[in-house]
Amino acid sequence: MKRAVLMIIDGLRADLVTPEYTPALFRIAGSARFFSRHRSVFPSATRVNSASISTGCYPGTHGLFGNAIALDEGDGLRPVSVGPPEFRDRLRAVTGRTLLRPTLAERVRHNGGAVIYSNSSAGAAHMLDPDGHGWLYHRSGSFSPGLDPIEGTAHLNVSYDGAGDAETTARFCDAMRSDADVPFFITWVCEPDHSQHTLELGSGEHREVILGSDRCAAAVKETVEILRAQGDDVLFIIASDHGHETVDEIIPVEDLLVEAGLKASTDSSDVVFASSGMGALVYLSDTALERRGSIVRWLNKQAWCGEVYAGEGLERVGLAASNNLAVAFSMAKREVNNRFGVRGFGHVAKDRFMNTDEAGLGQHGGLGPYETNPFLIVDGGGFAPGRTEFPSVNVDIAPTILRHLGLSAANLDGRPLPVHD
Ligand SMILES: [Zn+2]
Repeated sequence: MKRAVLMIIDGLRADLVTPEYTPALFRIAGSARFFSRHRSVFPSATRVNSASISTGCYPGTHGLFGNAIALDEGDGLRPVSVGPPEFRDRLRAVTGRTLLRPTLAERVRHNGGAVIYSNSSAGAAHMLDPDGHGWLYHRSGSFSPGLDPIEGTAHLNVSYDGAGDAETTARFCDAMRSDADVPFFITWVCEPDHSQHTLELGSGEHREVILGSDRCAAAVKETVEILRAQGDDVLFIIASDHGHETVDEIIPVEDLLVEAGLKASTDSSDVVFASSGMGALVYLSDTALERRGSIVRWLNKQAWCGEVYAGEGLERVGLAASNNLAVAFSMAKREVNNRFGVRGFGHVAKDRFMNTDEAGLGQHGGLGPYETNPFLIVDGGGFAPGRTEFPSVNVDIAPTILRHLGLSAANLDGRPLPVHD
């Protein structure tokens, strides 16, 4: 039977897949195809990339633009975090739907279905299957097709950390062995991303956390080999959603917009600021649309600001000028090492939904070279072993899986990955 197994190790940048940091992943990569120039979509944030991995489309196509977005729930535009479990219902209540494109779980629904285990935020987990086409296991709630709650011991009741990842992985490996008719499996471990937000990249504690996720990878690979020994033709994709860089300074962009006279007040709905960490979005209400040019000119003068995209220009970074999105930008970068030799610094746009941001610790969300370079390893499925510089993107994962399963990959932004040079 043809099967596809996708494992995401959240927040692990490609240059940290080394014999020292990740011995098991390095071994897996040695007999598989390693896409060294793999890229996140922008913003390089988990929830956005989760939706791009599951749909094979850029945010401008699938409709989820950031880790936080602006929604008008009846009293004007307000910033809303995508993270909490209730987000998908809030989005559906406002727009009538969730993602604008079908997920892999929907595409395989009538071909045996999808089994998904995730220990990321609820919002990121839900973007893998927001409408309940498969079996989704998450600590905030587990669901069978039709979004019927799974309760009792079958629910995934784990902690949001490395220990929870290890339990999630063990449960996932059991499911792979026992759900003999299911063609598609996803597991998503929250580390090292979760701890990188509170650690210095490359520190001893950070290395310990990465080793935990590396052990999870080894367990999944071992189970993949059991399935192969039983005769299954398994495509095993193991990747990350984005990388991390070191936080330079936290910039209170929302307050600065008010000070500059470009936004009425912190909580006003004329101009709504939605941070994704090292990248951010600016939404404009219909009455404030004429301020777009002033905001772009102001951003371009700020030393803390990097590349700015607006209007039709949003399409150049995979976004779209729809749902009141007007401007997107990455924060400024510095090409220097931190004290543990891990390269890349960037400013953070202060995020009202994130209270752990701190100079010297990890973050992501912008267009920096490391935060946008997650690792990607493709094992089996006819892929030739070796390192390739083919410029792959997270949107290419879904069409690659669909090709392996013999299903149509029509209307996706991504393209199936080449199996050899
Ligand atoms: Zn992530």
